[in-house]
Amino acid sequence: MFPETTLCHDSECKYEGAVVPPIFQNSLFTFSDWEAIDKAFDARQEHFIYSRGKNPTVDFAEKKLAELAHADRAILFTSGMAAISAAILYCVKPNSHIITVKNVYGPTSNFMANYLKEKLNIETTFVSGENVEEFRENIRENTVLIYLESPASPVFCLQDLEAIAALAKASNIKTICDNTWATPLFQNTLELGIDFEVHSVTKYLGGHSDLVAGVVMGKQQEMEALFSREYEWLGGKISPFEAWLLIRSLRTLPVRMQRHQENAMKVALFLEKHPQVALVRYPGLPSFPQYTLGQKQMKGYSGLLSFQLKTNDISQVKAFYNALKMFHRGVSWGGFESLAYAPAISYLKELSPEQFVQMGISPGDIRISVGLEAAEDLMADLGRALEVVIND
Ligand SMILES: *Cc1c(COP(=O)(O)O)cnc(C)c1O
Repeated sequence: MFPETTLCHDSECKYEGAVVPPIFQNSLFTFSDWEAIDKAFDARQEHFIYSRGKNPTVDFAEKKLAELAHADRAILFTSGMAAISAAILYCVKPNSHIITVKNVYGPTSNFMANYLKEKLNIETTFVSGENVEEFRENIRENTVLIYLESPASPVFCLQDLEAIAALAKASNIKTICDNTWATPLFQNTLELGIDFEVHSVTKYLGGHSDLVAGVVMGKQQEMEALFSREYEWLGGKISPFEAWLLIRSLRTLPVRMQRHQENAMKVALFLEKHPQVALVRYPGLPSFPQYTLGQKQMKGYSGLLSFQLKTNDISQVKAFYNALKMFHRGVSWGGFESLAYAPAISYLKELSPEQFVQMGISPGDIRISVGLEAAEDLMADLGRALEVVIND
């Protein structure tokens, strides 16, 4: 079956013929007798016993995600970070070593480089991720994990997932890839050899800016082990209601992603030609430095991109930002609504000016999440706001 069909086809739902499956809003499930409960405990991961373990609504959503990502199994978590921290903890041990990319999502970076360092004496090495040799050169005897994010916002650097996965396998190192940007529709990291694919479901998979969730996907045996340890013990389960919202969202994922892609491409081309714009970073643009690698490992491009104004004067950047009318000002991305964010707002609070530059960002950078509105209205809005910018 094609993903468009899988995501809309709820044939498993046998509840009174309801076209939308119900929400199993309960903490526990009861059994007819001793034998029944005893049998359920023999195969705990296959039965509904207690909702910190398995819940039918959650199970329904997980099966759809697993199918979409070509994974044996998916486990939903209460947030992207709950999923990411669980997957990382599954892979590490005290005094071990991680290699990751310098543009990795901020909280993920802090979790590895600060929290795991402090609690378990785990070292993290950051590389640009642009070539496989960098990873090879940084492998140590105690390296247990290569953590990737491709593309990684706000500069959208890609990593060659197939080559890095092969290198890791040969050295007995686990790989995790954050695939939030591309979604499983546009990139299958597991098929490229990655061990665990993680997502902030909050972004495109949720798609309506009304839920926060995360997912880890991978091979049966490892997912079973992760379920019985990091999932059940840390307890970061998703609520049945949010899983139900997600089932709703997944039905329209293919049409939404197609529209995000079309709109983002129009907006990117518009910005690239604009005299007040110095640079557009969007993996779908032929001018993108890693365009060829993107074409090789992705089937499409989502709607998050960034561009650089021709000024680094914060008052000018502010004037542009505040002049936007269609683009809402806010964090996060992947929803139906277009959003704009200036990395300078938070990065300058958290990073030194040197770190800021090292990440390849400048004060004049604007990140936009291109939503599902008419591209013409979005371009008109950007055009209007760009008129207030005076070049340096
Ligand atoms: C938002 C985000 C996360 C974290 O997800 P939450 O659902 O907010 O916990 C992780 N990775 C990427 C790339 C993100 O954009």
